[in-house]
Amino acid sequence: MDAAATDQPKVNLYDLNRQELGDFVARLGEARYRAKQIWTWMYTQRVDRFQAMTNLPRATIAKLKATATLGSLGLVAMQQSRDGAEKRIFRLRDGQLIESVLMPYDDARMTACISSQAGCAMGCVFCATGQMGFGRNLTAGEIFEQTMVFARELAARGERLSNVVFMGMGEPFHNYDASLEAVRQLMTRLRVGARHITVSTVGLAPQIRRFADEDLQVNLAVSLHQTDDARRSALMPVNRRWAIDELMNACHYYVEQTNRRITFEWAAIAGENDTADEAHRLGRLLSGLLCHVNIIPLNPTGNYGGVPAQKATIKSFSRILSGYGVGSTVRVRRGIDIEAGCGQLITVVTRRSPIDSRGLRQGDASA
Ligand code: SAH
Ligand code: SF4
Repeated sequence: MDAAATDQPKVNLYDLNRQELGDFVARLGEARYRAKQIWTWMYTQRVDRFQAMTNLPRATIAKLKATATLGSLGLVAMQQSRDGAEKRIFRLRDGQLIESVLMPYDDARMTACISSQAGCAMGCVFCATGQMGFGRNLTAGEIFEQTMVFARELAARGERLSNVVFMGMGEPFHNYDASLEAVRQLMTRLRVGARHITVSTVGLAPQIRRFADEDLQVNLAVSLHQTDDARRSALMPVNRRWAIDELMNACHYYVEQTNRRITFEWAAIAGENDTADEAHRLGRLLSGLLCHVNIIPLNPTGNYGGVPAQKATIKSFSRILSGYGVGSTVRVRRGIDIEAGCGQLITVVTRRSPIDSRGLRQGDASA
């Protein structure tokens, strides 16, 4: 073995693209065609250990084991909800914990809800992840691997991962490059179609514009939840940085550039944002924009006292919206009994590692 000395941290092969894998294999002193074989084992056969790469010589496997890892997520716990949602808690290499959820739908869709960060710096008061604070950004490989784990499990039972939503822990646009790289990996490595991928943002206006210019067919969801700046800022501190006007301008830009429909998420909270007045304001705000509203009755979280809006209230809210030509659906609540619902994902952040302190500086929303 040469340059890839053993005292270096092991390389997570999911973090490497095809070219980088070729370079890595060359540095190990192996023929370049080995990279092609490894790539096929990783993304066609989707094996989870080097030993399963049976056409590699034993010495090559030993070198790989000494210098690299095939993924880096350690499964800590699995939980299954009564409604079929399955939650996984993973430990990252530095001890941080993240969560991912698999949700089966009646129409045979299998949707993975994945995390882009350990914790979240955005501090939305109704969200358990926001309440726990920010750990660090995930690498593209760490984001991607969450889907690979589900894809493997599904394949073993004759099923297929069909959809991926970036709605787990973290704000994907606060970790823009890694999230976008993971989106591309999903498309090329797991063959999930762009139209079956949704990135959800709290409303980072500059990144929405950047996303609009990516020339991708990926869906965009924007968490709105309020139409009034003061009230939205109280729920979602990010609104102090990019107020509703600026956010909506970015959304209009996105639709003009992509001709794609935006989904606005609305966590319906009794007395807070479920009134008829609020529905009229939202209708006026969104009228004429190519969009759809997803109404999610608030899921309970530890440090927020709000209660979910009533079914009947949501129904009339939705009816008022349609008067403005704005379509809406009520999202079925999933995984509540295992705390896998929207905004319920929470794990303990290990704050002492050096990566954390770097991450906390990056955590400035204006970054
Ligand atoms: N950070 C991104 C994506 C993760 S959150 C974002 O905020 O969009 C995924 C969705 O769950 C968001 O729409 C968020 O507003 C919503 N959410 C957060 N907490 C919730 C709760 N307690 N009940 C219902 N939805 C919630
Ligand atoms: Fe972060 Fe999204 Fe939760 Fe807000 S709702 S704290 S942006 S994960």
